[in-house]
Amino acid sequence: MAATILVVEDEPAIQELVACNLELAGHRALRAESAEQALQMVRDELPDLIVLDWMLPGINGVEFARRLRGDKRTHGVPLIMLTARAEEQDKLAGLETGADDYITKPFSPRELNARVKAVLRRRSPQVTDDLVEVGGLQLDPASHRVTGNGAPLALGPTEFRLLHFFMTHPERVYTRVQLLDQVWGDHVFVEERTVDVHIRRLRKALEPTGHDNLVQTVRSSGYRFSAAAG
Ligand code: CA
Repeated sequence: MAATILVVEDEPAIQELVACNLELAGHRALRAESAEQALQMVRDELPDLIVLDWMLPGINGVEFARRLRGDKRTHGVPLIMLTARAEEQDKLAGLETGADDYITKPFSPRELNARVKAVLRRRSPQVTDDLVEVGGLQLDPASHRVTGNGAPLALGPTEFRLLHFFMTHPERVYTRVQLLDQVWGDHVFVEERTVDVHIRRLRKALEPTGHDNLVQTVRSSGYRFSAAAG
């Protein structure tokens, strides 16, 4: 699983420890030493997850979390709080602010990676390496293979990402704009009809085993991936 993870921590040794561990686990780590810097970085690129220190100079962790949650663009970014405080009350405050989980310092690299993995699995399954299977269609992110009823299917890289997103978010309608954000990336400027082009290619790739029916057009809304008949 390779996710882009922003580490917000003012203590250089801990920032380095966290970032290096995430990189060893195969992630891409971005580093910020203050909430102000992190806010700037988030404006440029939306990470898949943020590991956030509670005690920061200037804007503190709780306030930073509050701002993220209050912004339409960033409100969905998964958040793990790092805290030196073990008090129950502080943990509750952190979770109320919208943190998905918290880790109390000192923590082991293994614990950090396990928490990151658990939050990603829950919140952003499309960035994990978990094999997904829907109605005989199987996608393996680790080997980058797709099979339909056991037969290999050939997909381009964009179609692969699109299918991975769909398979990890079934039974929900996504607009073209939402698909662009989720699959092409936030702040990537491509036309909405690009989505239609790749949907067509994806369906064509899934046709040999009849799985193209899983990619459904929802009139005047967008697209839905569903194992049920459209
Ligand atoms: Ca700190």
